[in-house]
Amino acid sequence: MTQSSDPHEPIDRDDKVWALSTDQLLKRFNVKVQHGLSETEVRQKKKQFGSNQLKKQKVRSWWSILFAQFKSIIIALLIAASGVAFLFGEWIEGWAIVIVILINTLIGFGTEMKAVRSMEALYKLGTVKTRVRRDGKISLVNAADLVPGDIIIIEGGDIITADLRVLNSSKLQADESALTGESLPVSKSADPVDTKTALAERSSMLYKGTAVTRGTGEALVVNTGLNTELGKITSLVEITEDEKTPLEKRLNDLGYKLIIATAGIIFVIVVLGILTGRSLFLMVEMGIALAVAAIPEGLPIVATISLARGLKLMAEKNALVNRLSSVETLGATEVICTDKTGTLTENELTVEGFQFYERSITIKTSNGRGFYEGEVSVDPKKDQELMKALEIGVICNNASLYDKTEGGSGDPLEIALLATGRIAGLEFEDLIKQYPEKKETAFDPQTKMMATWNELDQGGYRVHVKGAPGEVLKSSTSYLHNSEIKTLTEKVKQYFIKLNQELAANGFRMLALAERFSTDLEEESYQELCFVGLITFLDPPRKDVRTAIEQCRDAGIRVVMMTGDQVETARYIAGEVGLGDPQDQHIIHSLELENQPEEEQLKAHIFARINPKQKLDLIELYQKNGYIVGMTGDGVNDAPALKKADIGIAMGERGTQVAREAADIVLTDDRFSTIVVAIREGRVIFINIQKFVMYLISCNVSEIMVVGIASIIGMSLPILPLQILFLNLVTDVFPALALGLGKGSEDIMERKPRSSTEGILNRSNWSFIFWYGVLITGSVFGAFLWGIHIIGQDPSQAVTMSFLTLAFAQLWHVFNMREQQSQIFKNEITKNIWVWLALILCTLLIIAIIYIPELALVLKLFPISISEWKVVIVMSLIPFVAGQAYYILKSYYGKLLDK
Ligand code: ATP
Repeated sequence: MTQSSDPHEPIDRDDKVWALSTDQLLKRFNVKVQHGLSETEVRQKKKQFGSNQLKKQKVRSWWSILFAQFKSIIIALLIAASGVAFLFGEWIEGWAIVIVILINTLIGFGTEMKAVRSMEALYKLGTVKTRVRRDGKISLVNAADLVPGDIIIIEGGDIITADLRVLNSSKLQADESALTGESLPVSKSADPVDTKTALAERSSMLYKGTAVTRGTGEALVVNTGLNTELGKITSLVEITEDEKTPLEKRLNDLGYKLIIATAGIIFVIVVLGILTGRSLFLMVEMGIALAVAAIPEGLPIVATISLARGLKLMAEKNALVNRLSSVETLGATEVICTDKTGTLTENELTVEGFQFYERSITIKTSNGRGFYEGEVSVDPKKDQELMKALEIGVICNNASLYDKTEGGSGDPLEIALLATGRIAGLEFEDLIKQYPEKKETAFDPQTKMMATWNELDQGGYRVHVKGAPGEVLKSSTSYLHNSEIKTLTEKVKQYFIKLNQELAANGFRMLALAERFSTDLEEESYQELCFVGLITFLDPPRKDVRTAIEQCRDAGIRVVMMTGDQVETARYIAGEVGLGDPQDQHIIHSLELENQPEEEQLKAHIFARINPKQKLDLIELYQKNGYIVGMTGDGVNDAPALKKADIGIAMGERGTQVAREAADIVLTDDRFSTIVVAIREGRVIFINIQKFVMYLISCNVSEIMVVGIASIIGMSLPILPLQILFLNLVTDVFPALALGLGKGSEDIMERKPRSSTEGILNRSNWSFIFWYGVLITGSVFGAFLWGIHIIGQDPSQAVTMSFLTLAFAQLWHVFNMREQQSQIFKNEITKNIWVWLALILCTLLIIAIIYIPELALVLKLFPISISEWKVVIVMSLIPFVAGQAYYILKSYYGKLLDK
């Protein structure tokens, strides 16, 4: 075995750390398990080994963002335009276009910089963290910051983020399928293995990219980043390109289609113009200006900004988005499948009492803390049944209780059992010393039971079992009654079954306890059990769930409970939170699932005793029927269902890292109501994007119509190329951005989900764009002709009026973007402060180019009189007034008009 002398050098394959003893290893890395590395050592090693990443997130520098602005088609077109201007000796025009290029670049740079930086900040929120001991203290650090020599604390459900050598373990198992292809979990321990052991069999190692399925342990980081086994098989440093969401792709697609559609029109306009004797320079310039109008360059960047803003808002409200592409799916979610414990309920369990055959014992935690039968206090030390039940609860347990303070770590149900044991003076550590644990049959959502095998002084083992009452009863043949073991007759069985159902129907979470003796460790755990009794737990529903479920109902989203718990508890909780139809609370039990016709399965609101595989099947069923499904999950077993669902939702508090990694969204507070908040935000983002796309395109369409019609009928142009550039590249941008930042209308959750197959713009959006294009065009011509025929201006003067009409009509047009059913003065647009700021800024800019003589000269504009202003204002208001009148009429005669 080659051992490198420098402890800071990365371990290479020849080091065979799996064959070293833990002492050798710790010496080799010069670290103590209880202390870990010091911060100084970490800093030093970080410099030496770099970041523990296989892929580097590209952080874009400001200059690369600035440079990117010059790569756009628009800038190329503008540069061509300025070239043409200089060629024809039009110096003012030429320089004006150069200035437009600079302004456009600045705006583009500013917005893109903001978008890129906010996205980068959001990515950081979602990074995987690892529990590390440094300087004797345990803390969570970003996996990317791990260095060789770090001491890691591992728990079931964790993702392994570096190559580790196990230092100590308890029932540790890992799923290494990602690396070795082996689908069954493999056991891990600190015992060294032979130097020649193949990777898949190195039980003393844990490898980056694999996951801990169960157990706990501590381990030492031996390799990080590209030095890990996974790193070696991954191609060299991969650069993750900025993820393009389907939405951005669709926007780009829309952009291309628009360019193609308008290229022909622009060509005709230019040719017609030249044929009707307009100057060649004017027409080339016009062609370029119209091309600029047709290219919706701003779309992807405004989309990113509104996405980033929405994601930030979601993160503030405890929903972290893992995958950007899920945001648009969120808004289209039609079914939410949720589990019960912890999402609909508080998950702060307390033991309420015990049920033995024909006797019940309750627990008081405050005044007169202790155990009571009716009003009579019971001493557990003198009550064999109670003592047995308490002992099973404590010993068949994987949680741990904090020393003095309330609470503990692990499954809340098991914490509650430990806390109850403590009331009677029972501690896990004492019991385990007396009865060492030799084997555990882990809790499995399929069997719904757990067992531990503990060795007895006199030889043999006592098997302690806890689990779902129905399952435990099925495996029992005897029961404990008045300190005697009796045969479990059908009558006694029915007694417990009935009692269990009644208590569950009253909202208690139920658990059964049993035990048996065995001399053979290889025997099956769940057979010939002696049933001890039932435990009732209190787990109250969360208070905000009822409102959240009502909101879902209003929003056309079906909420379906898929719980591992029994029918009665599920029904009680469903009733408490208002889930499903109170008149027809049909619950499908997992055993009935296969025999139920698909229509029944699709109709049901509650599924009880469901296992992870059945969850997966149900998601497939919904998807087959065209539904967009959101699904909550927390365990390692839930990962496939979380991946399969359109929106996988993992729990940040109680969820495992594996579930969090598999999910699209992580709820940091585990609350059902946060899902509703996220769906709302998803809808807002989509609608905002839809709005600014409609706004920008309708403005551009009106410009193309104005120039197109004037060219076809051969009249003077009501608007000139530079003016079009000014409108497109300066003034249109701000209202569009403001629309992208809207907070969404109040009734957004009172509408049905958007169809997932629908593109960004549907048919009615296109007709909206067309009709507003027509209206704006009409008012521009109106102002132009008014100037010529009524005021008597010559066409070059009247252009100022038509330009101003177009500019202001486009500004007022932003108010047409309100939801049609909203109120005229009080709606999501008028409430959007950004819209008002954009309007003020644009008005100032427009006034500036009229009244600052140098600018006016360049844009061929003139200051106008009050009466001319009146015409401009009235004409520019026409599209707005017409739009609002249509909305009002439509809401009055809605259905009538539609017909
Ligand atoms: P949900 O799936 O809605 O969160 P749940 O937590 O009750 O509900 P599971 O975790 O699958 O679902 O548990 C199913 C049943 O198994 C529970 O009703 C309980 O009786 C039993 N059970 C739960 N946790 C344990 C445990 N740690 N040990 C033994 N039995 C358990």
